[in-house]
Amino acid sequence: MIRHLKRGKDIQVRADDDAKVRATVEGIIQAVETRGDAAVRDYSRQFDQWDPADFRLSADAIEKARKSLSAREVEDIAFAQTQIRNFAQIQRDSMRDVEVETYPGVVLGHRHIPVNAVGCYIPGGKYPMIASAHMSVLTAKVAGVKRVVATAPPYRGAPHPAIVTAMAMAGADEILVLGGVQAVVAMAVGTASIAPVDMLVGPGNMYVAEAKRQLYGRVGIDLFAGPTETLVIADDSVDAEMCAVDLLGQAEHGPTSPAILLTDSEPLARATMAEVQRQLAILPTAAIAAVSWEQYGEVIVCDSREEMLQKADELAFEHVQVLTRDADWFLQNMSNYGGLFLGPRTNVAFGDKVIGTNHTLPTNRAARYTGGLWVGKFLKTCTYQKVLTDAASATMGEYCSRLCHMENFTGHGEQANLRVRRYGDRADLP
Ligand code: NAD
Repeated sequence: MIRHLKRGKDIQVRADDDAKVRATVEGIIQAVETRGDAAVRDYSRQFDQWDPADFRLSADAIEKARKSLSAREVEDIAFAQTQIRNFAQIQRDSMRDVEVETYPGVVLGHRHIPVNAVGCYIPGGKYPMIASAHMSVLTAKVAGVKRVVATAPPYRGAPHPAIVTAMAMAGADEILVLGGVQAVVAMAVGTASIAPVDMLVGPGNMYVAEAKRQLYGRVGIDLFAGPTETLVIADDSVDAEMCAVDLLGQAEHGPTSPAILLTDSEPLARATMAEVQRQLAILPTAAIAAVSWEQYGEVIVCDSREEMLQKADELAFEHVQVLTRDADWFLQNMSNYGGLFLGPRTNVAFGDKVIGTNHTLPTNRAARYTGGLWVGKFLKTCTYQKVLTDAASATMGEYCSRLCHMENFTGHGEQANLRVRRYGDRADLP
């Protein structure tokens, strides 16, 4: 039986907030559509107090940003990018084009074609999320996207040098310093100064995530990647310190980031709750982490690993850390998660920053129907067909003609009949 030792705020409370966010985003989209660059500038001033001569960085400014970093910092960014590039390239290589004869004389195939132009949003309101540059820009480039526009808000009133450097090292073709909905809409619909893209990718706060949702259809999007969520599944093979560190390590993302412990050990659950309070007293980011833990944090005790699995699949969380003796059992059996972090030696921060898997992952239960950002999201799987012989054309034509007739599609039927007459030597057909 499932018992809550600590309950989080109902998800409905977030839904009320969502209605306000929806209305704000609608207004910004409309304004940018009608007033273009002028509206972008107004919102940038209003939300970010950011009003530069040009939102686009020059090559000199990019070079200056890089030079302001230490050699160690550049090397750390390069190391992370190497891991992410390597895994993305392996995933790209696993996506084979297909061409196969499926019926004598009939050849079907598909090709993976990169999207032409992509806008990558790199979040940077509360923290400068350097890693998001690798995750979006680099992955798009490995996929073969020709034009990659990368944008991030100013951080404390200026472009963040490490974000700019990471964008450039990842291969961004254009770098903007512009945040929030105004950046996302400008890239999607285009303005006099920003040419439109075909697809928007990258995580962001609830405004950015909602903007992508509202713009979907006019442009493609990667997925719904809003405020971070983390689920720790633990048994008594680990201790409270590790559970608490791994919960708070993600709760610090923002005040609406839920962190949940799911365990079959009540002593571990109680010890973790006490340990969270101890760590909150000393964590420098406790101002945020304490709010999210207080509001959305949960501690749930189950009787068995099957019960933990069922609850975890129901939650469909973005990050799921499995700190149990049998972590691989969850890998084999779990179906709804953004990313799995298996065993005590790894953790979500590795995935967020360096290990090589993508950190842009589905939130808000989107893990029920999608995985995270990966090279395949930038590729369109486009099919084609050829008929090589007269006999195959005539045979398909005869079946097709009768099927069209059943659907009352006369014009379609005539497309088929013409082939039967020409290639099947059947002049008797109407
Ligand atoms: P952000 O860059 O997403 O948002 C900052 C921008 O929000 C600002 O530039 C501003 O223009 C806009 N904004 C702020 N207040 C506003 C308001 N009242 N109305 C309209 N616009 C407003 O940075 P952030 O806020 O630090 O959020 C980053 C988010 O990204 C966090 O919630 C984090 O959890 C999430 N994240 C998610 C994933 C994922 O894969 N799901 C990965 C990394 C980060």
